[in-house]
Amino acid sequence: MMPSPSRLIIRNLSSVLDLFLPQPCPGCRSAILNHQEHLCMHCSLTLPYTQFETLRNHPLEKLFWGRIPFGFASATWYFLDHSPIQHIIHAIKYEDQHVLGIHMGKQMGLRVQQLITDFPIDLLVPMPLHPKKEIKRGYNQAELLCKGIAMTTGIPIGNRAIQRTVQTKTQTRKSRSERWDNVHTAFSVAQPTAIHSKNIAIVDDVITTGASLEACGRSALLHGASSVSFLGMAFTA
Ligand SMILES: [Zn+2]
Repeated sequence: MMPSPSRLIIRNLSSVLDLFLPQPCPGCRSAILNHQEHLCMHCSLTLPYTQFETLRNHPLEKLFWGRIPFGFASATWYFLDHSPIQHIIHAIKYEDQHVLGIHMGKQMGLRVQQLITDFPIDLLVPMPLHPKKEIKRGYNQAELLCKGIAMTTGIPIGNRAIQRTVQTKTQTRKSRSERWDNVHTAFSVAQPTAIHSKNIAIVDDVITTGASLEACGRSALLHGASSVSFLGMAFTA
């Protein structure tokens, strides 16, 4: 059904107004006055950076010790409940905030420059969603992060190289071993030639126990990846 002329006028007017009215910051809902910015000044300056890229033997690396051989493991921010970083991740994951996802990915890319100089990466692999979940959501948030990382690092993205073949139940209230039971057979390599002999980095939004990354990394190694590294937007300490 065609929208009525008055409805069309209102819709056009509101998109014109959007260009001039301050937008709410996805981190704290305060107004962003500069339309070129994605976050307000306060959020930009106070997001909890982990600095993992400058550290060795940090808690995220330790998470994978003894579980899987890996190149590097890093995350750009700490995940804190009820904080701007949680709201930003929510917006990227559930509110179609694609430009914000790419912007945060660019920041991640800038932070890992030194890591990838020391340990070059050939391919970024977004943590796959189960196809049903991706259709329902309309996109994969990890792919948005990869796009931003690719823009600042020049590393290509291997989008469909690995697939999630089992739709896992929510991991939120599960222990580390329960999460492992839940995901260890959840991935398959759809394009072995894409990852064969490559140093890949698997990119995810939030790293908590690392069970999904480990399972995804294992299937990549089984199918001939030279190495796997893990890169998260945020780490739940
Ligand atoms: Zn803010």
